[in-house]
Amino acid sequence: MKTYPMFINGEAVRGAHSREIINPANGRVFAKVPEATLGEVEAAIHAARDAFDKGPWRTSTAQARGRILFRMAELVRKHASMLAELETLNTGKPIVESEFDMADTATCLEYYGGLANKIHGETLPVPDNAINFTLKEPVGVAGLIVPWNYPLMLAAWKLGPAIAAGCTVIVKPAKQTPLTMLEFMRLVQKEIPELPPGVINVVTGDGTAAGATIVESMRVDKIAFTGGTETGRNILRGVANSNLKKVTLELGGKSPNIFFADADLDAATDGALFGVFINQGEVCSAGSRVLIQKDIFKKFIDRMKEKTKRVKLGNPMKRDTKMGPLVSADHLDKVMSYIEMGKKEAKLVIGGRRPSAKNLKAGYFVEPTIFETDNKTRIAREEIFGPVVACIPFKDEDDALQIANDTPYGLAAAVWSRDIFKCLNVVKNLRAGIVWVNTMQPCYVEAPWGGYKQSGHGREMSLQGIEEFLEVKQVHINLNQNPIGWY
Ligand code: NAD
Repeated sequence: MKTYPMFINGEAVRGAHSREIINPANGRVFAKVPEATLGEVEAAIHAARDAFDKGPWRTSTAQARGRILFRMAELVRKHASMLAELETLNTGKPIVESEFDMADTATCLEYYGGLANKIHGETLPVPDNAINFTLKEPVGVAGLIVPWNYPLMLAAWKLGPAIAAGCTVIVKPAKQTPLTMLEFMRLVQKEIPELPPGVINVVTGDGTAAGATIVESMRVDKIAFTGGTETGRNILRGVANSNLKKVTLELGGKSPNIFFADADLDAATDGALFGVFINQGEVCSAGSRVLIQKDIFKKFIDRMKEKTKRVKLGNPMKRDTKMGPLVSADHLDKVMSYIEMGKKEAKLVIGGRRPSAKNLKAGYFVEPTIFETDNKTRIAREEIFGPVVACIPFKDEDDALQIANDTPYGLAAAVWSRDIFKCLNVVKNLRAGIVWVNTMQPCYVEAPWGGYKQSGHGREMSLQGIEEFLEVKQVHINLNQNPIGWY
């Protein structure tokens, strides 16, 4: 069994305590990682603080930081198969999806590598004999807190802009899925010696211990967090009770995927299933509410049901597997309890069980599950974060919009119709940070990602993503040499 170290101040640290890492496809322990003590987390914060305040990083050029990010991207591309296999072993996601994640991880690092030397302030036309301009400066020490559904990719969404901006970081992967971040960091330590110690630290451990220590530290300037909405609330409390550090939150969702009667039935039903069953439904932007116009409701559900029978559940290492196990036994229990709730409050169309095949018994598998319901049930209102979809009928455009926006969340939404005017009217009236038309889930580093309402604060990726790691300093130079004549 392999034991992975964490990284503090450029050193691999084995740690005083360890945590077992489980392969969710068979429930077996296959690796160990350190469980950081509070002292170890403090040491990582100290290293990041010193590297920011005193180290050579402070005077590094934007070009040099960009080059480091390009080198990191190269490492991910070179070791993509190994990293993808590790991601699949640790999360249970199908190997083909892990390969996409690695490509997206590298693309994100490249994007911010290219952006590093294109960040600049502005000169501002103030109405005096003066020059006024802004400087963009790194926000400082950033805590990057990452969930378990896209472990390396979501770390890169934060690491890319943080490094490009000139921040130093402490990365805290989810306790269930730290392996790709640790393996990536091992490669970085070995292959990129020009990265000064303390600039990137990785600590592994529980959210309420290691994570909360970073959040509540007076020596950390910023938290970039992706995870659940309740955890987001706890983070805001921790920040309010400490130094009011800057925060970005990428939280949960209950995204509507809206189908009008004139949509192409085949493309639409593919989109409905892909929107919610990709990555076992463990996706923040999952189209977990499928809104279908009444005229086609029955036909649409029948087609979804027929296609769901073809979703291949199985060993996530196999290339033809379309759905792997859920990430953990705890998460399986949570998803199954929502399914049981759904059986009582809604009409089950298909799925709703753990698969009976012998080879899947030990893993945390659950069948792709479809319910017919309305927007009032708990399965239609709460984030399940598994392969469970609530299908809801609607009458017309207004009804669709009313149902779609009737949620505390506002991360993503999609609308399907051949009528572009109808689509654009819906786009304009949806309260969500990402809206797709005639597709669902494509995600690009060039475009901003983030939510309205209780789905978060701020944006990741794109030009906007780096602004979240920058402070703006206004500089005003008086060109008038005479006394102001006030006294
Ligand atoms: P989670 O909130 O349980 O944990 C996320 C991270 O926060 C983990 O690293 C965890 O250890 C840490 N954490 C937990 N409590 C903490 C605390 N009090 N202080 C500091 N850190 C703490 O989420 P999860 O179960 O890992 O991921 C699933 C959730 O993430 C879902 O709700 C999903 O919608 C959301 N998510 C959102 C996005 C997005 O971009 N909006 C993307 C992926 C996942």
